[in-house]
Amino acid sequence: ENGVAAGISALPFPQPVKIQEIRHTKIFINNEWYTSSKGRTFPTFNPATGVKICDVEEADKTLETLDTGKPFLQSFFIDLDGSIKTLRYYAGWADKIHGKSLPVDESFVCLTKHEPVGICGAIIPWNFPLLMFMWKIAPALSCGNTVVIKPAEQTPLTALHVGSLIKEVGFPPGVVNIVPGFGPTAGAAIASHMDIDKVAFTGSTEVGQLIKEAAAKSNLKRVTLELGGKNPCIVFADSDLSLAVEETQKGAFYNQGQCCTAASRVFVEESIYEEFVRSSIENAKKIVTGDPLDPQTSHGPQIDRQQFDKIMDLIESGKKEGAKLEYGGTSVGEGSLFIQPTIFSGVKDHMRIAKEEIFGPVQCILSFKSQKEVIERANSSQYGLVSAVFTASMDRALSMSAALETGTVWINCYNALHAQTPFGGYKMSGNGRELGEYALAEYSEVKAVTIKLSETM
Ligand code: NAD
Repeated sequence: ENGVAAGISALPFPQPVKIQEIRHTKIFINNEWYTSSKGRTFPTFNPATGVKICDVEEADKTLETLDTGKPFLQSFFIDLDGSIKTLRYYAGWADKIHGKSLPVDESFVCLTKHEPVGICGAIIPWNFPLLMFMWKIAPALSCGNTVVIKPAEQTPLTALHVGSLIKEVGFPPGVVNIVPGFGPTAGAAIASHMDIDKVAFTGSTEVGQLIKEAAAKSNLKRVTLELGGKNPCIVFADSDLSLAVEETQKGAFYNQGQCCTAASRVFVEESIYEEFVRSSIENAKKIVTGDPLDPQTSHGPQIDRQQFDKIMDLIESGKKEGAKLEYGGTSVGEGSLFIQPTIFSGVKDHMRIAKEEIFGPVQCILSFKSQKEVIERANSSQYGLVSAVFTASMDRALSMSAALETGTVWINCYNALHAQTPFGGYKMSGNGRELGEYALAEYSEVKAVTIKLSETM
């Protein structure tokens, strides 16, 4: 986010490798690299330049920035750091997963055991390729499962790089298998495969529905889904205004807005509305758009032309439907995939930008009069992923957290994700929970063992 570059640029960090050797482009199964059985490859592109990187393989330590276009410091301090923390957290669970001894009728002893589910499929998106890889494999391995994982076709490089590390550190063959490919082929094959016992998916709600359907029609495999969001942030007049401006904007623009958690509906109490909009514009001016491999950059390109066009179409719809474009709203440079951080004020609930997931750097600012009204409006969405409340009153924070229909409620902060804390959605934002102890249940079968005693105890 814009604060990242400013806050840590003084610290030592590795410099990005601007010209990279791409080493792995194949399919990783049983610790070996295979070519496509149909002899097909697909290209992956650098979104910042539009230049083809390779026809799918591995490279060096800045790979994530190269493949996604996200600013280098964000890749390093957020994606890589979060990936390491997730692995460490679940490594700690590996020898602490166990069942119980249950008190039953005295002529029986009843024990439960937590066993692996078996083969876990995972299908992940392009917005956090490395982090999502770890969110999927870490709890699965901790519970003793094996994994078949499909990275997004736009961003396969870091997954394949991790495949080479998995082999290098001595994982037994077949524990982690990586199948780069497209959704309707490789992804659909995972969802419908009779030998896969569970599938974990992160991506769009539409594809989540297809995956649940395929699982139901094949072997009723377990399904966990982490889907979209249209996340409300509610800023009360008693809040710390500069904190609320900074956090809500980080939430809106972080990763170029390509986050399921994007803070895309910011409801601001009427009495501070004008001031909030003014301060948000000033804050947005500090964002540095440019080459993602430059450590000073805090805002990079969108992932591809399709996403770029979808976002620009929504920006146009906002203007046509009468929202006021306060800042940004255009692309940066002819033919590029960069979109300026964009702020709309005067947004109304019926507008497309207030209802649809934009998945781009667009902040929509709405105003509200009363707590009751804002709860109803915030909850009036098919989604229920995350929300945030900014207030000085802990009573209000707690009553709001009870009223909001979302899997996460952040109070006076945004995007505060931790490996220990469960993450997942209400309503059409998904099923099940990732991270924390809660995710272990998604990757374990519970077996009850009941023993009849010959003598009562
Ligand atoms: P998507 O849902 O199509 O793709 C996500 C993953 O699912 C990719 O690995 C893709 O190959 C796979 N996939 C696609 N079709 C599939 C199928 N029929 N069966 C199995 N797997 C399939 O997302 P997208 O097209 O890359 O982006 C479209 C929209 O999805 C975005 O605009 C955004 O709204 C949303 N999205 C959400 C997230 C998130 O983190 N929740 C991430 C990426 C995209």
